[in-house]
Amino acid sequence: MKKNNVIVIGSGISGLLSALALSREGKKVVILEKESYIGGVCRSYDVSDYRVDTGPHAITRLENGPLKELMDRYFNRVPQFIPFGKYYVKIGSEIKPFPWSINAWLTFGLLPMTDRLLLMRALFNILYLKNAGKDFSNISLSEILPHKVSMTTRRFLDWLCYFMVGTSIENAPISRFVDNKTHHPRTIPYVGKLYDLFITEGATDQGYPKGGLQSIVSSIVESFPKDSVEIKTNEPVKKIECSERVEGVITSEDSYDCDTVVYSGFSSDLPCLIDGLPVAYTQNLTSIKRVNSLTIWLGLTKKLFNNYGSEIWVDSDPYAWVVPTSNYDSSLAPKGNQLVGFAFTLPGEYNASTIRNKAFQTIVDNMPDIEKHIDMIHYQELIPEKASWGINCGFGDVRTPIKNLYCVGTDTTKRSAGVNRSAYSVLKFLDIIKSDGNL
Ligand SMILES: Cc1cc2nc3c(=O)[nH]c(=O)nc-3n(C[C@H](O)[C@H](O)[C@H](O)COP(=O)(O)OP(=O)(O)OC[C@H]3O[C@@H](n4cnc5c(N)ncnc54)[C@H](O)[C@@H]3O)c2cc1C
Repeated sequence: MKKNNVIVIGSGISGLLSALALSREGKKVVILEKESYIGGVCRSYDVSDYRVDTGPHAITRLENGPLKELMDRYFNRVPQFIPFGKYYVKIGSEIKPFPWSINAWLTFGLLPMTDRLLLMRALFNILYLKNAGKDFSNISLSEILPHKVSMTTRRFLDWLCYFMVGTSIENAPISRFVDNKTHHPRTIPYVGKLYDLFITEGATDQGYPKGGLQSIVSSIVESFPKDSVEIKTNEPVKKIECSERVEGVITSEDSYDCDTVVYSGFSSDLPCLIDGLPVAYTQNLTSIKRVNSLTIWLGLTKKLFNNYGSEIWVDSDPYAWVVPTSNYDSSLAPKGNQLVGFAFTLPGEYNASTIRNKAFQTIVDNMPDIEKHIDMIHYQELIPEKASWGINCGFGDVRTPIKNLYCVGTDTTKRSAGVNRSAYSVLKFLDIIKSDGNL
């Protein structure tokens, strides 16, 4: 057995950020990754002459979010982020910028005026009740939706739920949209996401990393202190040996001794890796629902997406988020060509080939001309979030019943989403491990 300070299981963004923070705090770290590559679902690779990411990404909260905090604290070199631009909503053949402010909402002609007024009233009712102490964590958005709203408005909100929560309007809790604190906590304590959607100018602190998602991973790896972090790929962890504490980690290749383990795989897999976990803990983990997604990357011989920003396709089935990444960085596609990612959130159960055909068909239905410009097509089925924040779904935690075992990743904290949720989990982990006296 090899003796190490910390074993980090998994080299996704949460595992890599944990390893960086721990090594900067003086620990010796070994990262064990089951795949032949690092980065998990936050990386890039080449397909023909295009550089695709693991799904299209907007990196959010770059001015004051958790990733920014970790970058400021631990990165030697921060990736260069290019402004993400507007989110355009496409309904039918019309396309308009996402209505972030009240003014834009009131003039947002893609949805009927009566629906917009009804929804504003519903929003302010929620905020009023929230301030009065009402708990909205088990009430779905569909439950408070005025009955009279049109199918288009309902689809628009359903799209938002899939995009922000990974589940449908029937299963998305209202608290996901209103629990976040506003930038003005003293004046209006409980106003959060929806407030931001309606009142502020919207997503001005979002970016796309120049060179693709891989540049974030490269910046982390370059920031590891010399000789402090060892990365071992093709090393799937098969067992975490524990009594009251973790005693060792066994992979298909080797076994490792350590003081602390940070696990960044699926929390729902822990019962297969550890014997004798408490029943209630295991039951919660097994009720976690993962979010599934399909991305279709198209390399196009002509620039068909001219707007600077991404498009939300409300009419498509399944719903689509369309991001022409080469508009941010032209080096991602051959000269004169365009690289576009079409991300679809998928229902729990699906047949892979049926959904691929359906998703491709919805692209063609929306843009009949596109087929004759396709130079490259590439499909990715990936899990963007390890836990959906749905009503009656389980959710993991950073803390585990084992004293020196911690979890990080998108199934360990509910705050934010995607990369920033991973970053929040790492900040939470650092606070906990410090308070435990293990750092
Ligand atoms: C289509 C798509 C679009 C997205 N869009 C955005 C976006 O716009 N903005 C945003 O912020 N985020 C977005 N995300 C989400 C974001 O990429 C992820 O939330 C984040 O990268 C998850 O990081 P993680 O470390 O928690 O998990 P993962 O990346 O899943 O990492 C877990 C790692 O652990 C390894 N592992 C698991 N089990 C074991 C084991 N037993 N032994 C060894 N290794 C193991 C896995 O191989 C993997 O490398 C998107 C994701 C997708 C797929």
